[in-house]
Amino acid sequence: MKHTETYDVVIVGAGPAGANTAISYKKLNPGLKIGIFDKSLFPRDKSCGDAIGPGVINALKRFGNEHILEDEPEVISTTLFGPKNIGIQNYIPEVQNKEDSVVYVIPRLDLDNRIFNLAKSLGVETFEEYRYSGFERNTDKSINVSFKNSSGENEIFKTTLLVGADGANSRVRKDLKLNQNTDWHKAIAIRAYIDSPNYLEIFKERSLMFEINVSALRGYAWAFPSKGTLINIGIGMPLSLFKKENKNINVMLNDFVQTLESRGVIVENIRLQKSYMLPFASSRPKLAHDRVALVGDAGSMINPMSGEGIFYGMESGFLLAENTHGLLQDNKEDINNSLKLYEKSFNKRFSKHYLSCALARLVLQSPLMTQRLLAVASIDQHTIDFVVELLFDEARLTLKEVFLLGIKFLSPLWILKIIKTSN
Ligand SMILES: Cc1cc2nc3c(=O)[nH]c(=O)nc-3n(C[C@H](O)[C@H](O)[C@H](O)COP(=O)(O)OP(=O)(O)OC[C@H]3O[C@@H](n4cnc5c(N)ncnc54)[C@H](O)[C@@H]3O)c2cc1C
Repeated sequence: MKHTETYDVVIVGAGPAGANTAISYKKLNPGLKIGIFDKSLFPRDKSCGDAIGPGVINALKRFGNEHILEDEPEVISTTLFGPKNIGIQNYIPEVQNKEDSVVYVIPRLDLDNRIFNLAKSLGVETFEEYRYSGFERNTDKSINVSFKNSSGENEIFKTTLLVGADGANSRVRKDLKLNQNTDWHKAIAIRAYIDSPNYLEIFKERSLMFEINVSALRGYAWAFPSKGTLINIGIGMPLSLFKKENKNINVMLNDFVQTLESRGVIVENIRLQKSYMLPFASSRPKLAHDRVALVGDAGSMINPMSGEGIFYGMESGFLLAENTHGLLQDNKEDINNSLKLYEKSFNKRFSKHYLSCALARLVLQSPLMTQRLLAVASIDQHTIDFVVELLFDEARLTLKEVFLLGIKFLSPLWILKIIKTSN
């Protein structure tokens, strides 16, 4: 067993959560010695819809890194379809918490590598093809973290703080003896890439297409335009229902391709089909432990309504660094208190938002309610803006919002139409 260097922070996983944790520590306290480890060699693919919204743009801007999005085409609208073929197109509204109401669709093979390279450029020490295998707490308040490298050798790295950023099947989380999310609080989804020479023509512009509760029972299918003719398509549903109904994810994807074709979309060269789990934030584990913290999917941070997870993962990395960077070198006694502050600030920021999205998920699981919501949203701009803000911003349901939505849900549509024309 090879013993190597000592670090202030060892991060397991170099996806957006881990890489942004490293970037944030280095930007807030350049003197820290940070090591980031990943079992893969970058660039590496990750099953994903590849959509990043105002939150990610904002997280990159915080440290002047938005240049990695230069030359990417902007997506400017969403098109929502529901049962009975109700469809509405809406511009991405001015989100309240961020200045950029834009979405980009960038293959994760590329996006994650760009974020990882930012960490490298700041002097973070990077270790690719290093598979985490366990950790041990020492009596001197340090932690030994073990990895198997690409030559099959075991190596141990010493650290003050260990960060688990190793995704939906986190080994670090398992070693903390925390349970995985139950199937109800998880989704399964599959992603594929296609080429479509006429997608932008069919949807009139660069629009993210969601099809709710049609091809996917109590879930949704998507088609997200990236650069040129490249489109990311996929479909996902709650894991509990997927198992109960004995579904086959590849068959679901094929059915959705046929639906796309029936809408006139030319589908060519279907490739790189890959399925994976999404641990929803409706059931989060404890994030702060004795000198160990979880960020991103390892801490179940995915929005239960939209399936978005990149933003929450990156933001958790920043909040962790913000709350702990000052204590790592000088006052190791206090590190556990500052880890608790990290967990508190994450929950303060996102708990109500996650709760609102979990409620919205319940509504959207009923085909009748989805139909009604889309019918109301097709007439009422405020409702569609609110739905899109839940998807791309940190919107929360307030009592006033529940009251207004309740009235709109119960009112006959002709009354809403009269109100709309009189405004
Ligand atoms: C089909 C699908 C579609 C999605 N669509 C979207 C979307 O459009 N937009 C969005 O925002 N989110 C989407 N998500 C969610 C998003 O992919 C995740 O929330 C996001 O990747 C979380 O980032 P992360 O850094 O926490 O984990 P990951 O991106 O999974 O990164 C974890 C890293 O840890 C490494 N690792 C794992 N185990 C070990 C180990 N033992 N040792 C060392 N390294 C290890 C992995 O190689 C990986 O690089 C989607 C998810 C799925 C499955």
